[in-house]
Amino acid sequence: MSIMSSKGITLTKDLLNRAPKVLLHDHLDGGLRPETIIDLANQTNFELPERDPGRLTKWFHEGATRGSLSEYLKGFRVTIGVMQTEEALYRVAYEMMEDMYKDGVAYVETRFSPLFHTEQGLNYDQIIETVLRGLRDGARAFNVRFGLIICAMRNLPPSGSVKMAECAVRYREQGVVGFDLAGDELGHPPKDHLDAFYYIQRNNFFITIHSGEAFGKESIWQALQFCGTHRIGHGTRLKDDMMESDDKIVEMGNLSRYVLDRRVPLEICLSSNLHTTSMRSLHYHPFPLFFKNGFRVTLNTDNRLMSNTTQTNEFFVAAKEFALTLDDVEKLTLNAMKSAFISFQERLDLIYNVIKPGFAELRAGIESAVSE
Ligand SMILES: [Zn+2]
Repeated sequence: MSIMSSKGITLTKDLLNRAPKVLLHDHLDGGLRPETIIDLANQTNFELPERDPGRLTKWFHEGATRGSLSEYLKGFRVTIGVMQTEEALYRVAYEMMEDMYKDGVAYVETRFSPLFHTEQGLNYDQIIETVLRGLRDGARAFNVRFGLIICAMRNLPPSGSVKMAECAVRYREQGVVGFDLAGDELGHPPKDHLDAFYYIQRNNFFITIHSGEAFGKESIWQALQFCGTHRIGHGTRLKDDMMESDDKIVEMGNLSRYVLDRRVPLEICLSSNLHTTSMRSLHYHPFPLFFKNGFRVTLNTDNRLMSNTTQTNEFFVAAKEFALTLDDVEKLTLNAMKSAFISFQERLDLIYNVIKPGFAELRAGIESAVSE
């Protein structure tokens, strides 16, 4: 399958795979390989809903596509259930880096919550150190760079969020790059967790918050103005703060103007949104509205296992649905790189030594193929 872009370059999956990509919103516990889940479950006698890799994949995907975030989150009981030992955490982190390499991702920020991995007696430091070890070894083996984001959970007590914030800051020199608040938005406003966010802010560290995914623009406003977030996870409901006509904004509220003017990055996850909301098709997704009107939009996988996707596939889906060009793909990648939580110098290094040369090489390859 391929798509003809307006410039006549066909954005095939192969081409998009070869483009150097940046992924900012990916859950470590949402991207396990089905074979690994089965192996790990066998080692620990963990009860699985299916024991065949194909059927297990289908089980995750069907749970994810019931159109409800609560249903979607059920799959995590299984993935988290098998990630309770150092061996399992290391393996999942290491394999994630290999999967990024195969997906053509140059830089990834993956995230998880240590709160969920203590069932067999591991403490938070052991959990984080093990995951970082897996990521570092994977980075060396596959030449993919990474940052780790520590998640707090909005549906758990705020005292746990403070512990997670402290963990994030404690490991900032070892590969942790930021702090996130995840989980079901409904009934769990981010401002319940202010102590954790203030701790991060006082330590001059970085925040991204899942907001405006299942719940309205109020959640985005709180994340920005109460919690001091630097990026918005999803943010699709920002659309409620603007009036549009044919993907042109005709009127904007203060909130969307703030997001646009302050260049607040939006971590858009197309497949995931399609699966967790009542959106009937991507045709109704605000991605093109945000992108065409200059918002700092990025494309992300969210949960590769549950949504049965890759970063290559997210670009392919976007290219197909919204007629993206290769220039658009590069723009979205640069948006993501500019919005990463690693240092300014590292971001520049990736932009000028990996991303721009990578896209130039792709274009040169296409032109020489055309002139032959
Ligand atoms: Zn997410």
